[in-house]
Parts: sequence; structure tokens; C-alpha cells
Amino acid sequence: MSRTAAPKANTAAPLVIVGASYAGTQLAASARELGFDAPIVLLGEERHAPYQRPPLSKGLLTGKTSVDTLALRGPDFFTDNAIDLQTGRRAVSLDAAARTLRLDDGATLRYGSLALATGARCRTLPVSGADLAGVHNLRTLDDALGISDALGSASRACVIGGGFIGLEVASALAARGAAVTVVESQERLLARSFPALMSNYLAGAHRQRGVDLVLGRGVRALTGEADRVQHVELDDGSRIGCDMVVLGIGVTPNVELARQAGIACDNGILTDALGRSSAPGVIAVGDVANTTLPAMPGGPTRMRLESIQAANDGARAAASALAGKPQPFDGVPWFWSDQHALKLQMAGLPQPGDEAVLRGDMQTDRFSLFYLRDGVLVAAHSVNRPAEHMHSRKLIAARTRIDPRLLQDASVDLKSIPRSSP
Ligand SMILES: Cc1cc2nc3c(=O)[nH]c(=O)nc-3n(C[C@H](O)[C@H](O)[C@H](O)COP(=O)(O)OP(=O)(O)OC[C@H]3O[C@@H](n4cnc5c(N)ncnc54)[C@H](O)[C@@H]3O)c2cc1C
Repeated sequence: MSRTAAPKANTAAPLVIVGASYAGTQLAASARELGFDAPIVLLGEERHAPYQRPPLSKGLLTGKTSVDTLALRGPDFFTDNAIDLQTGRRAVSLDAAARTLRLDDGATLRYGSLALATGARCRTLPVSGADLAGVHNLRTLDDALGISDALGSASRACVIGGGFIGLEVASALAARGAAVTVVESQERLLARSFPALMSNYLAGAHRQRGVDLVLGRGVRALTGEADRVQHVELDDGSRIGCDMVVLGIGVTPNVELARQAGIACDNGILTDALGRSSAPGVIAVGDVANTTLPAMPGGPTRMRLESIQAANDGARAAASALAGKPQPFDGVPWFWSDQHALKLQMAGLPQPGDEAVLRGDMQTDRFSLFYLRDGVLVAAHSVNRPAEHMHSRKLIAARTRIDPRLLQDASVDLKSIPRSSP
């Protein structure tokens, strides 16, 4: 009779990950792929298993995407990879010296390594009436379902904030037949991310599709009757009538656990390029991390990005260190946004002063805007040009010096432009 020894249980102190969304899930997955074999506990305060957030402001609101397609991983993924996913559990305090974490039900978890993947939460609007019924935030699946439900009985919506989420919500609500007004306090849309040429293009695109934009105006109060919002009052005294309000005024990173444990924070948890924080054994990944990107044009740059790419690539880098095979992310940040029928894809981070080169015709809603710094391609914004987005990512990563006339000339295939050698 042959006998197989039962596999020995790994009794190492676990990797505990707080936050079961993109960064937390990717960290667990990459750690396993790289051979990390200690137990992994993935804690999430939301009641749902990890799910995709981008559709919450896009297909889920228009009705094109259904809730049952949102799972981030297949049903067997967590058990197959020995990842102990625990939803509906919130971490409330951290003792980094003792390597323990306390949960909201009073339990205490001991960890070998801890990952803070706590993401970010919506900023609140500091005016009276912000707590009226009919005023919505959008970060979670439950938030999105609430907005979708409210739309059933609302015909006029006011979106406060003309950033990516606000503009996506505006397009989705307009597609559902609502009369939509967007209020933005800056003089132009997405002023932090886009040069005036792109902001103005987007403003035109939204107005053409029936979205009313009020730019350069702050909100003084939300008012209503019977505790339900009816007006957005602006700083010039004018009022916008509405049945619902959606706030898209940015997020604040969830740093409380780190801060309370004395871990260095400044607009997020400060980490190196491998996600390591100032406390031994504690890493931070995703929207909550203010991290170092080693391969930015001009040298290593610290920044807190809010994107799926940054969450996934940051988690992969942190997992590589956990598995003893350190490999910082050396690619180009990228992001996308869907508004009306426009697929915006962004690679790299342009800065004021970069030379902008247009390829294609903005009027046709198919074009790319490239950004050169000292003759080197550093960023590209593409609208309905997915192939150009993909090629520009490669050219940017290779720090390619390009004659702007080649970029401008739509008959020149971007693939034919030789990449600089790294
Ligand atoms: C509506 C919407 C649309 C978006 N669209 C795009 C897009 O098109 N493209 C793109 O690149 N990005 C998009 N983003 C941004 C993207 O979703 C985020 O960058 C990404 O979710 C960040 O992942 P994360 O894991 O770092 O944090 P999060 O996704 O914020 O997850 C953090 C998780 O941690 C949990 N948590 C926090 N504190 C605790 C605690 N103490 N205990 C237990 N759990 C805790 C939270 O409940 C949350 O589930 C969008 C975001 C939203 C909200």
C-alpha cells in the first residue's frame, strides 16, 4: 500500500490585505503567481465579493451592463488560490509594532505582512443641504444601484463636478433620458488633466449631446422641501432645478489606519516603488498609495494615481517584493473614460508647456493629441482611436524622439515609427 504524506499546513503568519478591490485582489493573485506560499487573508468591508468599478458610472447606469457581470474574478478563484476572502469585515485599528490588526467585530488578527489597499472615498460637499435625500455619491456598487433606482422617478439631474466620473455620469443619465446639468467650479472641464484644447473639445461634445454645462461656478447650497433636494444654488445666486444630484467632486484616500499607526502619509500612504511604507512589514497599494514611479520622463516621480492600471501594476510590484523577486513597475500610466459614444484613452501624463500635436480631426470625434517634451513623446490622448493609444504607449515607454510632422500625418502608420532603444 502506498501512502502519500498529507501536505503540511503553512503555519507562517499570514499576509493580511485590507481592502478587497482591484489593488487587494491583484496583490493576492500576483503573490500566488510568484510562488508566495504563506496564508493570505483578504478583508473587505463591503458586503460584495470584489467587483469592477468602471461600469458603475458607465454601463450599469445606462442599463447596458448587468450586475451579475461585474465580478472581478471567477467564482472559484479565491478558493483555488488559497486566498481567504472575508467580506463584510472592517479593520478598525492597527498596531504596526505588534503586527496586529483589530476588526470591527472585536477580533484581532496577527500578520506577517500587512497590505493596506483601502482605496479612497468620495469627498463630501461642504454646503448646507448636502445631506438631503436625492443627493448621491458614486464609489460603490450600492451607490450606483441607488442612482439607477432614483433615475426611475427623476427627469432632471444635476451633476456637481466636471471630472471623469461626473462627465461619465452625465452622459449615462442623458442616455437614460434625463435633462442633465453639470456644474464645474473651474473655467474648463478636467483642467488638471487636459490642456484647454481637449477641455474645449469635450465641452463641445457634451453640449452637442444635450448636456448643459455651467463652468466657473461654485455651489453655495442645496435646497429642497420635505428633506428632498430640489435646487442647486450657485455662488452667483442662480438656481438649477433638479430631482436628483450626483456629486463627482473627487476622492480622499483612506489613510486612517496608517495614520493612527504612525505610518508616514502625505496625500496617501507614502511608499517606495515596491509599495513599502515607512513601517516594516506594511505595504500600501492602489488609490490609497502615494508611490514612486521610477520610469517617468525626467526621473522617478512620486504621485498618487487613481486608476485601475495603477492599482494593478502597483500591486504586481508589491507582490514581487513579497515573493522575493522585486520588480518595480517601469511602464507608462494609462487611463480610459467612456462618455457618450466617445472612448477616451490616455497614456502618460502631459504637463503645461508640452508641445501638443493633433492627428485627425476633432470634429469627427476620432483623433489623437500627442504631447512632446523636448522632442520626446511623453503622453497621448486618443478619442475613438484605440490602435493609436496602444502604439503611443509603446512609443512613450521607449522615450521615443519623434518629428511632430510624422505624428500629425494620419497617413504615417505609428507602427512604422522606430522606437528609441531603452
Ligand atoms: C464610478 C467609478 C468609475 C471609475 N472608472 C474608471 C475607469 O474607467 N478607468 C480607470 O482606470 N479607473 C476608474 N475608476 C477608478 C478605479 O475604480 C480605482 O482607481 C480603483 O478602484 C482603485 O482600486 P483600489 O483597490 O485601490 O481601491 P478601491 O477600489 O477604492 O477599493 C478599496 C476597498 O477597500 C475597502 N476598505 C476601505 N477601508 C477598509 C477597512 N478599514 N477595512 C476593510 N475594507 C476596507 C473599501 O470598502 C473598498 O472596497 C473608477 C472609479 C469609480 C468609483
